[in-house]
Amino acid sequence: MINCYCLCHFYFLNRVNCSFYFKIGACRHGDRCSRLHNKPTFSQTIALLNIYRNPQNTAQSADGLRCAVSDVEMQEHYDEFFEEVFTEMEEKYGEVEEMNVCDNLGDHLVGNVYVKFRREEDAEKAVMDLNNRWFNGQPIHAELSPVTDFREACCRQYEMGECTRGGFCNFMHLKPISRELRRELYGRRRKRHRSRSRSRERRSRSRDRGDRGDRGGRGGRDRERRRSRDRERSGRF
Ligand SMILES: [Zn+2]
Ligand SMILES: [Zn+2]
Repeated sequence: MINCYCLCHFYFLNRVNCSFYFKIGACRHGDRCSRLHNKPTFSQTIALLNIYRNPQNTAQSADGLRCAVSDVEMQEHYDEFFEEVFTEMEEKYGEVEEMNVCDNLGDHLVGNVYVKFRREEDAEKAVMDLNNRWFNGQPIHAELSPVTDFREACCRQYEMGECTRGGFCNFMHLKPISRELRRELYGRRRKRHRSRSRSRERRSRSRDRGDRGDRGGRGGRDRERRRSRDRERSGRF
């Protein structure tokens, strides 16, 4: 006999896949979504949820009319964050194919970082380890993500500068890093071994000193100063 429970269970098991979760790895309905969020058991990609804090979203001037953080300062802050996370991922878990950060404002996408590793094993290792760690005073929430093709996940209108939905768009608005940093991080591919041994050396030097840089006071710094601060901060993550 088919009772109500059986029917509900039948519909539950036969739910349609949520296309947002499938493409973007996040859906605004979260666990309450009526469609199925098919969480992967293997993936090259991991998502670190709500981990990047854009200083422009939090720092408003006293009059509340203009943002207290300039675009240049915001970009510097972002590049530092990106470089720190990217480098940490490669040094601790394995080669990163690409990393992307959402500039969206909706709760399910704000500050999400997606790291696509070359090997699935590295992604699995990263998720297990990162869920026991903290970043900027908050526990990290990491999970395997179904996203492997970021072109599918991205908002095309945003890329053309035409998205009318703004920060609350449900497709990814990926925040670009500076061209200089892009060249430096993705260019490492070719000279990997050299750069790896150099960064390991940097790391042990910073441990010897045992001090940490402060996060404030930006503007007008050159690249070398920024690097030395990164050295000091390494290990914070
Ligand atoms: Zn959904
Ligand atoms: Zn959009």
